[in-house]
Amino acid sequence: MYIVCLDMEGVLVPEIWIAFAEASGIPELKRTTRDEPDYNKLMRWRLDVLKEHGLGLPEIQKTISQIDPLPGAKEFLDELRSFTQVIVLSDTFEEFAMPLMKKLGYPALFCNSLSVDPDGTITDFHMRVENSKLTTVKALQSIGFDTIASGDSYNDLGMIQASKAGFLFKSPESIRASVPEIPAFDTFDELLQAIKQAMV
Ligand SMILES: [Mg+2]
Repeated sequence: MYIVCLDMEGVLVPEIWIAFAEASGIPELKRTTRDEPDYNKLMRWRLDVLKEHGLGLPEIQKTISQIDPLPGAKEFLDELRSFTQVIVLSDTFEEFAMPLMKKLGYPALFCNSLSVDPDGTITDFHMRVENSKLTTVKALQSIGFDTIASGDSYNDLGMIQASKAGFLFKSPESIRASVPEIPAFDTFDELLQAIKQAMV
């Protein structure tokens, strides 16, 4: 039995922090793991910036609700979920992703979580497990699923390479060139066809 594991940011929705930096008018939030490779440090810094701007979870969710999924993403997910099981596997936080999941028809989402005070202040974050994409795909395989995975970035390669079939989607040229053996697509139609063919 197949299950499809999809990365979220860059595949179904824009990069949340970049879109949020634009929507909120806080450009320094565009800083990514390319600027600060220590993810925990980067997240603590982001939470401090949010606090400085007086942004708690309700304000952040309101801003994120102005961000739209990538064009065609909802239709792609609807079609995919009509013939197979799908899990969105992301390194983001469910509290940030929820406004976007609403626009995608609430697919299953496996990601991380935040601690939030009653007044809306975000006080901490919790990563579900180390290396969550690969770990999750392996766990699904251990309960009898054949996985098919797709994502756009380096942190997706583990789950793509460990799966029965895997595809890059909307990846930068540098990533495609580093793993030329992985088929790479740019349109939802191509990705849908490739997933269907992998299930034959
Ligand atoms: Mg991504």
